[in-house]
Amino acid sequence: MSTGKTIHIRGTVQGVGMRPTVWRLAQQFGLVGEVWNDGLGVTIQAWGTSAALEEFIRQLPLQAPPLAKIGEINCLTLDAAPQVKEFKIIASRSGDARTAIAADAATCPACLAEISDPGNRRYRYPFTNCTHCGPRLSIVTGIPYDRCNTAMAAFPQCPACQAEYDNPADRRFHAQANACPVCGPELWLEDPDGVRIQQAGLDAIALSAELIRQGHILAIKGIGGFHLACDAGNERAVSTLRQRKQRYDKPFALMGRDIAMLSAYVRLSVLEQQLLSGPAAPIVILNKQGAPLAAAVAPGDDKLGCMLPYTPLHHSLLQALDAPMVLTSGNRSEEPQCITNEDARLRLTGIADYWLLHNRKIAHRLDDSVLRVMDGQPRLLRRARGFTPQTLTLPSGFERLPPVLAMGGELKNTFCILKDGQAILSPHIGDLENAEVQIDYRHLLDAYRQLFDFKPELIAVDLHPNYLSTQYGLKWATQNGLKMINVQHHHAHVAACMAEYGLALDSRPALGIAMDGLGLGAAGQLWGGEFFKADYRRYERLATFQPLPLLGGVQAMRQPWRNTYAHLKHYFDWRNLSTEYAELDIIRFLNAQPLAVFDKMLAKQINSPLSSSCGRCFDAFAAALGICREAISYEGQAAIGLENLAAPVFEKQRGQGYRHASETADGLMLLSWRPFWLGLFHDLRQRQELSVIAARIHHGFAQAIVETTLVLSERIGSDTVILTGGVFQNRLLLEEVSRLLRLAGKTVYSPSKLPASDGGLAFGQAIIAAAHT
Ligand SMILES: [Zn+2]
Ligand SMILES: [Zn+2]
Ligand SMILES: [Zn+2]
Repeated sequence: MSTGKTIHIRGTVQGVGMRPTVWRLAQQFGLVGEVWNDGLGVTIQAWGTSAALEEFIRQLPLQAPPLAKIGEINCLTLDAAPQVKEFKIIASRSGDARTAIAADAATCPACLAEISDPGNRRYRYPFTNCTHCGPRLSIVTGIPYDRCNTAMAAFPQCPACQAEYDNPADRRFHAQANACPVCGPELWLEDPDGVRIQQAGLDAIALSAELIRQGHILAIKGIGGFHLACDAGNERAVSTLRQRKQRYDKPFALMGRDIAMLSAYVRLSVLEQQLLSGPAAPIVILNKQGAPLAAAVAPGDDKLGCMLPYTPLHHSLLQALDAPMVLTSGNRSEEPQCITNEDARLRLTGIADYWLLHNRKIAHRLDDSVLRVMDGQPRLLRRARGFTPQTLTLPSGFERLPPVLAMGGELKNTFCILKDGQAILSPHIGDLENAEVQIDYRHLLDAYRQLFDFKPELIAVDLHPNYLSTQYGLKWATQNGLKMINVQHHHAHVAACMAEYGLALDSRPALGIAMDGLGLGAAGQLWGGEFFKADYRRYERLATFQPLPLLGGVQAMRQPWRNTYAHLKHYFDWRNLSTEYAELDIIRFLNAQPLAVFDKMLAKQINSPLSSSCGRCFDAFAAALGICREAISYEGQAAIGLENLAAPVFEKQRGQGYRHASETADGLMLLSWRPFWLGLFHDLRQRQELSVIAARIHHGFAQAIVETTLVLSERIGSDTVILTGGVFQNRLLLEEVSRLLRLAGKTVYSPSKLPASDGGLAFGQAIIAAAHT
């Protein structure tokens, strides 16, 4: 007796080999029927014995292919009798395959085995892939996700590849990027004059490895853009790369052949090994140990950003090189990485010595994702290749919402789409101050609208009128007659984290703590050290850091010592202080600056806006210790330097943190750093180790945040605490504050799947806008 069922599978199940899996299972259980892609996933109609059907349904999630992300499986009983005598994969029902794009995935073990096997027709072929691995978002140019709508359209399949593509039992059934040396893209090596370099007996990869070994710098076209590569053990090569790229301080990332090779240089937990080896293959920030590499890889840092090969090209190159290589984004300082051969030849002239190129187009620029395990959880610091466009499920209460487009912030921009109860965050785009990045932003906005068949009905932007993202959103809303909502920066940070952890739309307000760089607050003030009572619709500011002037506006962001002077000038009488501590290095340094000019600026309130930023506080204390005192060359550098300095002695200094003070006026609690500075100056005068002072600064901040939190959580009657904002990318601070709050019985959430920095802001903007409808 035959039973029939209609089965809907929802989630990321298209373009990842779900239908062939269904087909194989159906064969195994002797079912008849059909499977096809629909608007929301995969639909199956199947008939068989009820026992077989039941087991089939039970096996679906268990046997799902590696890249599938099953959201839910719904079953309905079918009354009709089967019209077919076998089980078939049928073409997508026209026009409604909507959400078919998966994230790019690292080479799977089966493909790796093929490219390593001299007898295989894909031996060392750099573009080998299958339904379980290979490029996805980086090559897609339209929907539905079929070969004709990808960068592979230019490469018609040879008969052997076509046979794989057509065979449901094959791992390459409907693998849109399927290719082989006969029909697929081609790799070659060029010199600066554009002349292809050849040498008998060596292919382009073997030649490249040889050049890297000799100390040359190569531009290498990857999945989502160009990289610059050199031998990570060659001090001269790495320093040359820094000079040519004009990237003097920011650490370079490293690619090692396998876990064993990386283990010689970094400590790896089981979780970190899993993250490195997973299909997303991100850069993972790890602690250095053992054998040294060139010091210029990550100067003055006790950490190293590491990744494993994620394309056949990388695998073969590292096999040949047999040593770790620096792999950093292929760009000039501050610009986005190149994605076309022409662009790379032009813009990387003077940086690269040779170019390893291929003729598969990159449709969308995708940086490497970066993550770090902190407080026991992986934390994405940059979300791009391998993670986008994976959707985020929205908390309950957000099921029925209009399509929302959130434009993101100004730095580390991403934008966010809300659609069909899901959020799709764009990959990391970059700092919109840069004109090249703006072009990329507009390109991706257009691409996402098309790929996800998306028409916004509501636009969400930051409160800051000068952010390019705000201006672009306003223009869009005006031109299309759409409603626009301005969202406060730190409220967006808090809401993004609440939604990531699934706090329901109508859940009680939580205590949201945003320790951040800068964001516009109410009444034109600049905020960044905030304690909110917040839900998705409202926030109330309960406590903040003492607002202090940013001397010279944006200059205060670039030159940390300006914040030191602003602090000292506010909390003390400068003349008395500088006389009393005249022997201290920082006092001598400050006295050598044109302080009279600043005093005038302060007196007249010119170009010195007040800000309660936590990031600038870290800058002020770091500069007092001589860390990045005069200037920083990338955002957060001073705080990172302070964290590195403190890490080795952090545990030992517990209980020795500097004290803060607080007062409450008009219901707003204000945290002051006067006693903090006195403690620090005392230690400086005692010639205390700088690492000890750095650790006490961290403990002092952690203590200030925890004590304030405990008072406020009592006041609002909530034990749920959100820790977010860019400053919580500091491991010591995040782990210490979380530990102490958990000890006090609080439930602590901090961003994991999205960056705590402005990289996660757009999700918060979108969810707040949705909550207002
Ligand atoms: Zn594969
Ligand atoms: Zn082929
Ligand atoms: Zn922010």
